[in-house]
Amino acid sequence: MKFSVTTAIDYPNGAPHLGHAYEKIVTDSYARWYRLLGNEVFFLTGADENGQKLVKSAEASGLSTKEFVDKNVAVFKDLCAKLNISYDDFIRTSEERHIKATHEIWKILEDKGDIYFSSYQGHYCLNCEAYYTDLQAPDKKCPEHHTPLELVEEEGYFLKTSQHQAWVINHIKSNPTFVMPDLSRNEIISRLESEPMRDLSITRPNKGWGIPVPGKPDFVIYTWFDALINYYTASTVRGFWPNTMHVIGRDILWFHAVIWPIMLHAAKIALPSQVYVHGMVLAADGKKMSKSLNNGVDPFDVIKEVPVDSFRYYLLRAIPSNSNGAFVMEDLLKRHQSELGNDYGNLLMRVVKLSMKRISGEITPENIKVAFNFEPLIADMKELMLKREHHRTLERLWQEVNMVNLYINDQKPWSVKEDDRLFKEIIYNGLYGIDVISQLLSAFLPETGAKALASLGRKPSVLDITHGNYTLVDPPVLFPRIEPKTDPTV
Ligand SMILES: [Zn+2]
Repeated sequence: MKFSVTTAIDYPNGAPHLGHAYEKIVTDSYARWYRLLGNEVFFLTGADENGQKLVKSAEASGLSTKEFVDKNVAVFKDLCAKLNISYDDFIRTSEERHIKATHEIWKILEDKGDIYFSSYQGHYCLNCEAYYTDLQAPDKKCPEHHTPLELVEEEGYFLKTSQHQAWVINHIKSNPTFVMPDLSRNEIISRLESEPMRDLSITRPNKGWGIPVPGKPDFVIYTWFDALINYYTASTVRGFWPNTMHVIGRDILWFHAVIWPIMLHAAKIALPSQVYVHGMVLAADGKKMSKSLNNGVDPFDVIKEVPVDSFRYYLLRAIPSNSNGAFVMEDLLKRHQSELGNDYGNLLMRVVKLSMKRISGEITPENIKVAFNFEPLIADMKELMLKREHHRTLERLWQEVNMVNLYINDQKPWSVKEDDRLFKEIIYNGLYGIDVISQLLSAFLPETGAKALASLGRKPSVLDITHGNYTLVDPPVLFPRIEPKTDPTV
């Protein structure tokens, strides 16, 4: 199967925060999971570079807009590299290929009569670069930023979104997995059914930054209109459109679940298969991370303290896939120590070391009574991932880690003579368990999976649970003990 998965494209207005890291890690796990199952996967991420706010931020920092954007995009790319994000393409919406695709879709919509010129008055948030209706912002404050909205009147081009309202409601209702999870799906249906949509203003006056409207250089295309097109620009040339899963945060659900489908439907382009809305990572105090509360967590700081896979594991398992969760460093350290270090790392260490010490480093499955059948585990994990419940997928995998541990503890290979056939049997079954678990784990913790498999003489590839030989090499300590920081002043 050909399948593509996308993150939202990052707004390079500053350094990436924990929410960016979370979204990339979640999306990366789905990309790796589907690759592990043998699918052809295209993983797209990128940067949204045409926002008008970038001009102001660049001015404030004393750089040209282009220099400012380049500098920030480099930091986002660095974060991706440090987090082992396996993207296949990083699209920047200032690139020629994207401008070309945006112009093409503009022209299709204009020729079909879906774009018209008019004037507009409404309440506008500069930070969101969006208008809000009276129903959404009864107090004239931005529902996202809680800052006063500005009454703006401007001339420009509009997309006839209102005439597709009934169609989009029907599309979402008749395709239960188009918007996931149900909480988000219900939220969007209820908003769509509560008030008539207004046509969307899709241009801004040209102040020297953004994609000019074809043939109308006084205007640039509204950043949301062009940003959404990035998915199509990059996926279609590689033959991956439309079997696409968009992974996004809740704050941009409206644009992905309503505006984007309407743009495509009006242009007679096939729709993506799914919009999956992940939860928000909250601060330890349960509040939204914000500069004003100074309760944010810098992803670069975290991975200086713990292995990147401990960070990935914590975010994937401790933050529920369908709601919000708090980031608590002590919990991360606890899971690093107990689940990763003790349950998984020690299992690998003791089975491989014991085998290398007592018999040769070459283990074959001949004349072995097989102890484990992992088919049910794989079926369960597949189903949970399809439900976009990656936190429960890891929970399920850990049941198996514990089961293999229990097997080793019960069988006590250290008390069995090494020339006994039973010793080889226990060791082989232990290694086989580690092998399958590590392959499955490599979708979520790629570095860990690869290192564990290397100590069995194997390489991560497409999932393969057939029995074979193991050539053992000394296993590394995957999750070294992290001593709690002591305050030197005490
Ligand atoms: Zn706002």
